[in-house]
Amino acid sequence: MNMRHSIGLGRIFGIPLRLHYTWFIIFVLLTISLVVYFPGDYPLEQRILSGILTSGLFFASIVAHELAHSALAIHNHIAVKDITLFVFGGVSQITREATHPRTEFLIAVVGPLASLALGGIFYGVHLLLAAHPLLAAFMLWLAIINVILAVFNLVPGFPLDGGRMLRAIVWQRTNNYQKATSIATKVGRGIAYAFIAVGIVIALAYHSWLNGLWLVFIGWFLHDAARASYQQALLREYLSGITVRHVMDHGCPLVARDFSLRDLAQQYILPTGRTCFPVTREAELEGMITLQQIGKISKAKWDSTLVQDVMTPASKLKTTYPDQDILALLQEMNNEIANHMPVIERGKVIGVLNREDLNRFLRTRTSLGMMRLVN
Ligand SMILES: [Zn+2]
Repeated sequence: MNMRHSIGLGRIFGIPLRLHYTWFIIFVLLTISLVVYFPGDYPLEQRILSGILTSGLFFASIVAHELAHSALAIHNHIAVKDITLFVFGGVSQITREATHPRTEFLIAVVGPLASLALGGIFYGVHLLLAAHPLLAAFMLWLAIINVILAVFNLVPGFPLDGGRMLRAIVWQRTNNYQKATSIATKVGRGIAYAFIAVGIVIALAYHSWLNGLWLVFIGWFLHDAARASYQQALLREYLSGITVRHVMDHGCPLVARDFSLRDLAQQYILPTGRTCFPVTREAELEGMITLQQIGKISKAKWDSTLVQDVMTPASKLKTTYPDQDILALLQEMNNEIANHMPVIERGKVIGVLNREDLNRFLRTRTSLGMMRLVN
């Protein structure tokens, strides 16, 4: 699920609300099928209006479900980055995982509870609107869909709410977060395969292609989500406490802007084998020059071309600082590809963070982590 394909909708209780583009497809499909499924003797415009209202209330139900998660997270001092609504519901992007199984369980369980409560409320409204059968029917649909939402989310496969609850329980029992995540993910994958298998059976044996395909689609989505969430969980685990200082290149030579490219090549590039150099004056950042930039200049011009003619000026560089959290930085780097970032401390350049070093660091950490899981 790529959260970048989404648009901002403003804030609700201070939490940014985002809409994934798949939501628009669902909103239109839902409104159309509501209008088609509940015909009655009502004028078309009245049915369309009720359909839109019902889709809107369904949307609000999912927001309420996610807000319940977010409220509990915030109550436990876990900041919520945003809430994104997409095809199957919503995702609350919390900035870190809970540190206690009890907290994790509470944050997870409160979403389905909110959906169940909404189901009850819509059922009550359905009874009150008995005089208006069309609206009453839509309210009953909302009551049922909220109960389905609660039940679906209680399926014990990670990363669904039920999977998080399962992980919290295993975590509490074993006191091993990684093992708990691994078990909850395996159960999640098993459930995903079950959805796919049942979908295929329904499609082939009962020729109910649409329902079958729908189940296969949900299974496929769950499988993907389980894998992505597991990797995310591992990454969080391996990178907790790691900052830029641990990964940065401390020995990168600083060069002056009035160096010729030939001097740079002979004195720095060839002896050090490095590919990127901060350009500084008294250790203050003025720019950055990379092997790639130098390679674009023909060798005949290396004597007459200076570093400052080729470098990227400091104003166009993204910088970082030694105590920056690697996880937070990775999220930033994903959005804005920077292969080399000067590391600044008290106004002076103290090194460079290279994407390549970072990737190598991640690979090493991950393979060591895998060994720990196997043992
Ligand atoms: Zn939920």
